[in-house]
Amino acid sequence: MVVVGGRCAGAPLATMLAQRGMRVCLLDKARFPSETLSTHVIQPCGVGVLDRIGLLDGILAAGAAPLTRFTFVSDGARMEATVEGGLFEHPSISMRRLVLDRLLVDGAAVAGVDVRTGTRVTGLLWENGRVTGAVAGEKRIAARLVVGADGRGSTVAELAGARKYRLAPQERIFAWAYFEGVEPDGHLRLGSLGDLTYVAGPTDSGLYLAAACPPMKDRESFLADREASYAAALAAWPELSGLLAGTRRSGPVRVMANWHGYFRQPAGPGWVLAGDAGNFKDPSPAQGMADALRQGERLADSIAAGFRVGDLDACLRRWGRWRDKDGREMHWFAADMGAAPKKRPLADQILRDIAADREDTRRFLRMLNHEIRPSRLFTPVRVARAAARVARREPRQLPAMLKEGVREVQKASQRVAQRPPDRVTERLLLALTVIGFVVPNLCVLLFLGEEGLDTGGYFSLWFTSTPSTQLVLDLAIAALAFFAWVLAEVRRAPFARWWVCIPATFLVGLCFGLPLFLWMRERALWKHAPGRA
Ligand SMILES: Cc1cc2nc3c(=O)[nH]c(=O)nc-3n(C[C@H](O)[C@H](O)[C@H](O)COP(=O)(O)OP(=O)(O)OC[C@H]3O[C@@H](n4cnc5c(N)ncnc54)[C@H](O)[C@@H]3O)c2cc1C
Repeated sequence: MVVVGGRCAGAPLATMLAQRGMRVCLLDKARFPSETLSTHVIQPCGVGVLDRIGLLDGILAAGAAPLTRFTFVSDGARMEATVEGGLFEHPSISMRRLVLDRLLVDGAAVAGVDVRTGTRVTGLLWENGRVTGAVAGEKRIAARLVVGADGRGSTVAELAGARKYRLAPQERIFAWAYFEGVEPDGHLRLGSLGDLTYVAGPTDSGLYLAAACPPMKDRESFLADREASYAAALAAWPELSGLLAGTRRSGPVRVMANWHGYFRQPAGPGWVLAGDAGNFKDPSPAQGMADALRQGERLADSIAAGFRVGDLDACLRRWGRWRDKDGREMHWFAADMGAAPKKRPLADQILRDIAADREDTRRFLRMLNHEIRPSRLFTPVRVARAAARVARREPRQLPAMLKEGVREVQKASQRVAQRPPDRVTERLLLALTVIGFVVPNLCVLLFLGEEGLDTGGYFSLWFTSTPSTQLVLDLAIAALAFFAWVLAEVRRAPFARWWVCIPATFLVGLCFGLPLFLWMRERALWKHAPGRA
């Protein structure tokens, strides 16, 4: 087994596979300790996975900060909760990636994984349309399965041709820094005030993390003077700036200004994607790491089951369907949470209603922890009640609420349309392949019926006029370009019997060879797409 990428998705997965008795090679181009642009909150469900694989004690001993108190402030709404009283088995934790990711990689080595850092994967090995290993520089590493846990710019996804769907635009940038001297009180604060959103809380080594997220419209002005802009952003939340007053900044302001949300095709023959490589969502609800850990745990079981029953591909397809179902609602909820500021009287009222009820506030936290789906909390009844309250208490807000409703309906219909690709293209290409075979052969039969078996006469007719010669040359050049592209394409992502398109073009025509190749390629790409048996 080869796992490419050794952070939150790759290293724990490699550990879990090794713990299930498999031989695993973990490759990462980075050398650890290594920084990556991300804040640090791991939701309780992710902490549970770290506990189950035996790494939690070490992580806590190395100074991860438990987060036992939660505040969410949105214009007009304030939710407060503590994790006492059995809300979660573990509290969230926070630890800088510089420290955490090294512990994860070390944990994999202790579990018996062959860890190779400073090793960049540049290619995949293929056999009959199946990935059979990875190429890292001069080294070729054979494997029954290659896991791409190599993040948003995944090389494995690129080489395997995994396509993206459910795209969500970036609507904010993230800017954060650390402070020394804040009392470590285990208090995580999320805020949405005016144009800005915030994530703030203690992390390891006595540091305090404060992130502020301005909307994309302010990107250029923010980046033009990030120090001053960051300071102004913190000052705009008095509760946070009060907490930081008299403390000392440690290190620069870090900025993440370039990302978008997506899903990628989860698996194919001999490969599978885990963590950000397969799915990235707006970081506002701070779930990416816990997602990577949860996905890894389930994937390790699926891979073990696949080898046990002798049908790895079917088990990976099932896992891919689970991943999509598990992540879809939260993907869009995260996009809404990080959306650019707009007037949202209805959403504000819904949050006020949730904040006013202790049990609903706890359900909000359980939703962030992936225990209940957003649709179970934001039910039509709750929305209708909130709308009635706005209409009764603030009739002046009615036009804005109407606009908000129209926007939500438009957004929902766009999101429904963003389903994983279906088989329409494949069917269209098959139809064109059949037509491309039948039509030229009919023409040949007609000619034979009229002229008898006169091959020389048939071909000489191609050049009887300048326009017909032009057409023949046009097709010949197009066929040569097609062959060149086919050769490049199958080097990148080969599939079984791709070569038949070449005799098909010579014997029947480009109108047959071209759609035939595209149809076979489409089938190979989507054989393992989610939702397909
Ligand atoms: C601004 C921001 C804030 C965030 N805040 C939070 C938060 O508070 N909580 C949370 O849970 N999530 C957060 N996230 C999301 C979180 O960072 C990711 O979901 C998480 O890092 C995913 O881990 P991963 O292992 O899938 O990918 P990565 O962490 O991206 O790791 C991929 C690894 O693959 C390696 N790699 C890449 N290409 C190759 C190659 N060709 N060969 C070998 N190795 C390769 C890289 O070196 C890297 O080490 C945030 C994200 C952003 C952008």
